[in-house]
Amino acid sequence: MREAIILAGGLGTRLQHLVPDLPKALAPINGRPFLEYMLEYLIAQKVEHFIFAVSHKKEELKKYLSINYPQLTISYAEEETPLGTGGAILNAIDLVKSNAFFVFNADTYFPIDIDSLELFAIEHHFQICIASKHMVKPYRYGTIQFNSDNRITGFCEKATIEEGYINGGIYYIRKEIFDSYSKNKAFSFEKDLLEIKLNTLNIGTIIFNDFFIDIGVEHDYFEAQNLFKKFEKSTKRALFLDRDGVINKLLVNDYVKNWDEFTFCDDVKSDLAQICSYFDYVFVITNQQCIEKGIITSDELDQIHEQMRLGLESFGVNITKIYYCPHLASKLCDCRKPNAGMLIEAKKDFPDLSFEQSYFIGDSDSDIAAAKKVGCISVGKRHEFNLQAFKDISPDFSIVNFNELNAVLTR
Ligand SMILES: [Mg+2]
Ligand SMILES: [Zn+2]
Repeated sequence: MREAIILAGGLGTRLQHLVPDLPKALAPINGRPFLEYMLEYLIAQKVEHFIFAVSHKKEELKKYLSINYPQLTISYAEEETPLGTGGAILNAIDLVKSNAFFVFNADTYFPIDIDSLELFAIEHHFQICIASKHMVKPYRYGTIQFNSDNRITGFCEKATIEEGYINGGIYYIRKEIFDSYSKNKAFSFEKDLLEIKLNTLNIGTIIFNDFFIDIGVEHDYFEAQNLFKKFEKSTKRALFLDRDGVINKLLVNDYVKNWDEFTFCDDVKSDLAQICSYFDYVFVITNQQCIEKGIITSDELDQIHEQMRLGLESFGVNITKIYYCPHLASKLCDCRKPNAGMLIEAKKDFPDLSFEQSYFIGDSDSDIAAAKKVGCISVGKRHEFNLQAFKDISPDFSIVNFNELNAVLTR
């Protein structure tokens, strides 16, 4: 399991005058909390367990995460008094289940490929591997020195040199290095561990060229507003479509068992292509517990989906990928709607998609619930067989025909 400790306990003193009531990680960047960009990146990097080291303004942060990211596995390591970066990692260590983990700072954004960091550390037998970045005029940061094997040989605080390699604040760490440490003592990971254990631990670095931003610094915080604007534009918009009752006519109390039982909804033929033209990706997200019930096989379902794909193509609709959950409802799996597992899977496969800019069209409450879990815009589609739907949960939009979305999407 890929686990990350996120250091979110900093006092944020340098930003406090700009965002006085918020933890630094929630400082807004173009109207969205900084942490959202960070979590989008970490989810795309396939982090599965998020361990937040929190102290200052921890209640605000916990509340924000519980409301906005119920689908993530999150643990909290709470500090009564701030423990410094080293103390914070140590305080969180019992929550780490694996032998190695990653550490991120909740106020820096350095979107490196953490597969490469992990692989490099393992290949070089580094117990700690630091993601570093070359920087011209790195005056605000400490720099690192390393030999030709990428092993760290020294640290330089607040560099006066004209160029160098800065510590990017992302670490791969073997858990055992903390075995001899006692808890509840404040210390700095950088000054009191890395610098002191330089010769006894195997500490290395790998260089990345990704952009690096430290929003804890006022200059970078303002700079981030511009940088993230570009970043926002690169995010892709997805259309998620439920299948039964949205693409094909619903068979009441029955499953589509073969292609003869599959009838496209009328507006799929006439209007869906136009709607799809507003989106970069089109996905089908469907619960098919008929598989585990033994009613049809997954091969038979694949055949129906292949026919569906061809049919849709003939109407000008190109499906990017079809996701289905074969599990029985009683299994309580993560993928079956109302859970968001299939949406998370799509995001893993297409990391540049932005849930906030994406739409989910479904005809039942569980579709709308899944959409809301990841922050998609939800659309409830009404037909003669779902008159009881959307009473307990309100979709953002309610339609009978796809063409009603034209007005919304062109706006
Ligand atoms: Mg449906
Ligand atoms: Zn499932």
